[in-house]
Amino acid sequence: MAISGERLETACIDIIDACQLKCPTCVRGVRVMQNSSAKMSLEKFCAVLDKAKSEGYRRIGLYSWTEPFLNRALQDYVLEVKKRDLPCEISTTLSLRRINNLEATLLANPDLIYVSISGWDQATYQINHVGGNLSYVLANLERAVSIVRSRGLTTTFQLKFIKFDYNTSHEEPLRSHAAGLGINYEVIAGVGHPDTPPDTPFHARSFTDDFIREQMAAAPEASPETCGKTCGLMFDYISIDCHGDVYICCAFPNQPSLRIGSYLDLSAQEILLRRWTHSFCKVCTMPRREATDVDKRRIRRAVASTFSPLASLSQLHNRISSFSVGSRGVDSLERLSPDIAMLTG
Ligand code: SF4
Ligand code: SF4
Repeated sequence: MAISGERLETACIDIIDACQLKCPTCVRGVRVMQNSSAKMSLEKFCAVLDKAKSEGYRRIGLYSWTEPFLNRALQDYVLEVKKRDLPCEISTTLSLRRINNLEATLLANPDLIYVSISGWDQATYQINHVGGNLSYVLANLERAVSIVRSRGLTTTFQLKFIKFDYNTSHEEPLRSHAAGLGINYEVIAGVGHPDTPPDTPFHARSFTDDFIREQMAAAPEASPETCGKTCGLMFDYISIDCHGDVYICCAFPNQPSLRIGSYLDLSAQEILLRRWTHSFCKVCTMPRREATDVDKRRIRRAVASTFSPLASLSQLHNRISSFSVGSRGVDSLERLSPDIAMLTG
């Protein structure tokens, strides 16, 4: 049950394990995350949805590190989300020659479809969207908008222009195109740069499991969390792959070292605690926010429910130094000590 005032945002669920493009700025694009034929069964998806809804997630995003339209049964997944009265979002490039289930998916009435794009001509588009075909994107988008209009559907489209230094002149033509189609338009700053040499530190290619483990091994004891900060991606969002496994967050690749555990087998509290104490967050420089009272209550409840035999946090605090659970997720209880001091002090 959610804590009063708790406001969870999106549960991002990948229902397959592949993307056809090779964007050099993306861990999937450079195949640090390899494509596979794995797919989440509809049965497991329904169980994940039921749990996400019970935990208070306000919407479902059918995306994270994949192209959702590669799942030829995408419409069935959208229908299950809508049956549960949850908003459903899809993020796609539409860079596919044929999307046989485009109309069926739209008829399932997803609420919002993001279409990412990085150029108004093929030469520019393919600098970042490597392997993509702009004519497919534009044709699919026009067809999708037309289906929604002609069928009286309520799906909203948002064309998302990923802006880099080399494509700034394409911002306005794409804005005009979106306006002509009567759809929303958004400009977002590209993360990284497609021309960055692969051997540059923190290039998408560098995010191997070994690299992440090295970073974690060098993590300092203190973290922003120790100083009363929290990460919105950790507290308000959840990222689940097509096997039903939770990973640290949607900003970093699904590598074994960042796997939190099976979503269906762990309580919301244990998932939060495993994420909150994860060593990788100690070296992560993503912006944090001040911890709210609700954030603190969520952590207190997570600690209390995960270590229920201990009557109070002060007892837990006293006993922590002699207690360790190895690598089972809460990888070092000693690390909890300063964080708990922050919450109780
Ligand atoms: S389309 Fe998205 S998931 Fe696919 S390679 Fe590009 S950024 Fe990555
Ligand atoms: S790795 Fe960074 S962005 Fe991800 S949950 Fe941890 S602090 Fe947040």
